[in-house]
Amino acid sequence: MTKDFYAILGVQKSASEAEIKQAYRKLSRELHPDKHKGDKEKEAKFKEVNEAYEVLSDAKKKEAYDRFGSADFSGFRPGQGGGFGGFSGFDPSSFDGDFGDIFDAFFGGTRSGGKRSDTRGRTLEVEITIPFSEAVRGVEREISLKTEILCASCGGTGSAEGSKLVTCVECGGTGAVTRTSRSLFGMIRQSVICETCRGAGKVPEKPCNTCKGEGRTTGSKTVKVRIPAGIDDGQTLRVTGEGEAGKHGGTSGDLLVRINVESDKRFEREGDDIRSTVSLRVVDAVLGTKVDIETVHGTSTIDIPAGTQPGQVLRLKGKGMPIVNSSRMGDHFVTVDIVIPVKLSREEKRLFEELRQQLS
Ligand SMILES: [Zn+2]
Ligand SMILES: [Zn+2]
Repeated sequence: MTKDFYAILGVQKSASEAEIKQAYRKLSRELHPDKHKGDKEKEAKFKEVNEAYEVLSDAKKKEAYDRFGSADFSGFRPGQGGGFGGFSGFDPSSFDGDFGDIFDAFFGGTRSGGKRSDTRGRTLEVEITIPFSEAVRGVEREISLKTEILCASCGGTGSAEGSKLVTCVECGGTGAVTRTSRSLFGMIRQSVICETCRGAGKVPEKPCNTCKGEGRTTGSKTVKVRIPAGIDDGQTLRVTGEGEAGKHGGTSGDLLVRINVESDKRFEREGDDIRSTVSLRVVDAVLGTKVDIETVHGTSTIDIPAGTQPGQVLRLKGKGMPIVNSSRMGDHFVTVDIVIPVKLSREEKRLFEELRQQLS
């Protein structure tokens, strides 16, 4: 091994791990075969850069290289990861893989080896509008959806009637296959989801005619949604498992229901509390009275104490909105407005005059 890996990456021998990585990333971007189709010189350089980085980014190999000027690295045994430096058969123009995958596989990414199911149905979102009164009481609504539903013929198994599920030949029932790909660094082995059974490990012996084996078909369904008392405008409910049906018997997605609550001009909602205004005559504010207040739960009669001031706020405890998923209620606050009469009858005017004289 006579190549100077440091020179290839354009770094000092004393370069830090981060510097090496940075230099490598820059060069591999510049020299990437996608940018230089057919340029053999760039291609060779690209391989060299990768070869250099392969060694210098690995503490053990780097140490061996620094000490012996060679890197006949144990731990990189042929048959396990392919021979190091085995770029001979690599043809960048035929490389259609995602570079991210390779980088991840080498640099501690998590994309390799994962067994992730792609059979789960998608989450659906709908929006409904309810009147204010239903937000107070709570309500059950039926929502009709056109979506992927479980195939009625096979019940989601994807098998034709009478046909049984058999172990997937492709993956031997594990749902995952090991894909070996030739890369810049040698061979990479990755565990990926089996394409044939989509990770299920089993396939129908004879696929269902209705869904062509997918286990679901496009159709409509009605979902019952229980909207709890006290729901606020803009809140979203999640109905588990009522979204799109999964493929091949996979888990269904969820249904998200965004609730719009119509406003009621009698009430102003503030969290779990309700605010409203009451207009009082001067005499009632001065002498006190009883008034009927409309609350979200119906009419409440309240005492207005003598000497009530304009702008004063009266509290009706527990007469506000129900608090979702509890038996408690918010409060209702009434702001007092006092109406000064603009027009007085002759008699009223006389009485006010008399009052004034009495007071002075
Ligand atoms: Zn399989
Ligand atoms: Zn079917």
